[in-house]
Amino acid sequence: MVDGFHYLMGGVYCTPCGFASIKGFEDFVRPRFSDLPFDCDPVVERIDSLVCELEKSAGEVDDEGALNLLVAADLRRIQGALRAHSINDPNQSMKANLDRYEVVLRDLGMQFGRPRLFIVDTFPKPYDKMDWTATSPDKADEKDYGITPGNYFKRSHLIPIRSDFLLAHEMTHQIIGEVNPNLLGRGLEEGIAVIFGELFVGAQVLGAELAGLYADYHWHDRRASRGNKLYAQYSRMAATVYQNHGLDGIMAAIRGGRDTIKAVERSYLLGNFDVDLPSGNWIDWYTKVLQKFTTTVMEDLVVSPLSRYIATHAAAGRTVAEIAALANVSPHKVSSSLSELEQDTVTVMLDGDRVAYSDINLLLPGHSLRYEI
Ligand SMILES: [Zn+2]
Repeated sequence: MVDGFHYLMGGVYCTPCGFASIKGFEDFVRPRFSDLPFDCDPVVERIDSLVCELEKSAGEVDDEGALNLLVAADLRRIQGALRAHSINDPNQSMKANLDRYEVVLRDLGMQFGRPRLFIVDTFPKPYDKMDWTATSPDKADEKDYGITPGNYFKRSHLIPIRSDFLLAHEMTHQIIGEVNPNLLGRGLEEGIAVIFGELFVGAQVLGAELAGLYADYHWHDRRASRGNKLYAQYSRMAATVYQNHGLDGIMAAIRGGRDTIKAVERSYLLGNFDVDLPSGNWIDWYTKVLQKFTTTVMEDLVVSPLSRYIATHAAAGRTVAEIAALANVSPHKVSSSLSELEQDTVTVMLDGDRVAYSDINLLLPGHSLRYEI
């Protein structure tokens, strides 16, 4: 069952925010919204009352107070997005998107069996114990375990927009798996499912802007599991295939199936980029989305909530005492935060108790300097 928390998360995927981990943000908001229905008005109203509570400060701002203020500012941004967009229940939207993705893929010349979507409480055996979000059993699973091939999503893990993009990811596996299902689908195949399925096919249906935001949140999560970090790293390898061979090369790899993809992966891992793929069809908007996603996101430009809060006030020329008064933070804590900004990220340089140089203004517009949560 989807509830107010899920509705709010749909808004997150429409909004650039400042936190460094969507997982951390989810943990913060889930208990505060899950008692509400999946509906705009109650969620927007709850944001109002929660923001009031988070902004209420008793005395000086400390790390917890700074986190509350930063989350409150992000919630206000999300509230704006929720007023502008309606959020769809993934139980319904995914069925419609399955058909839309199929049209996009067939227009690209992909050949595959009729895709099927199953939203389930538990995955078919022997995968019922796996804590996956989604899986795409293929003909090998049908032969070995009697599972109907298709795209299986666990109901309890559905999140608006995220699940819609993941469906395009799973459909890419399904197409690749039809060629040689007996090989393990992993590695570069995951990278291709991300950059082709989610970012190219997903963007055709849900828009390039949403695809870019989704990719930033989902694949650059500061608290991502090792598995998810590997997906993001294989996405960079897949983006190099695109850079060298264009969309024609990516689609030839998909059509060639797991044998072809593994041959490319083996070669790339050894630093040999001379692989047997055709080249052509570089698409301007897609090249830009991929460049942003794979090369210009500074994943480690992340500081503590208090340092991120202090950064807003750390203009060049200001002293510790001036910043302390402006930010309502003790001078001792201001000094520690400035030191974190200087030593760990080199975004400011200090001269005694004065900020001599600051590049913070360069980093604020795109939320490039993120806060831990
Ligand atoms: Zn996958």
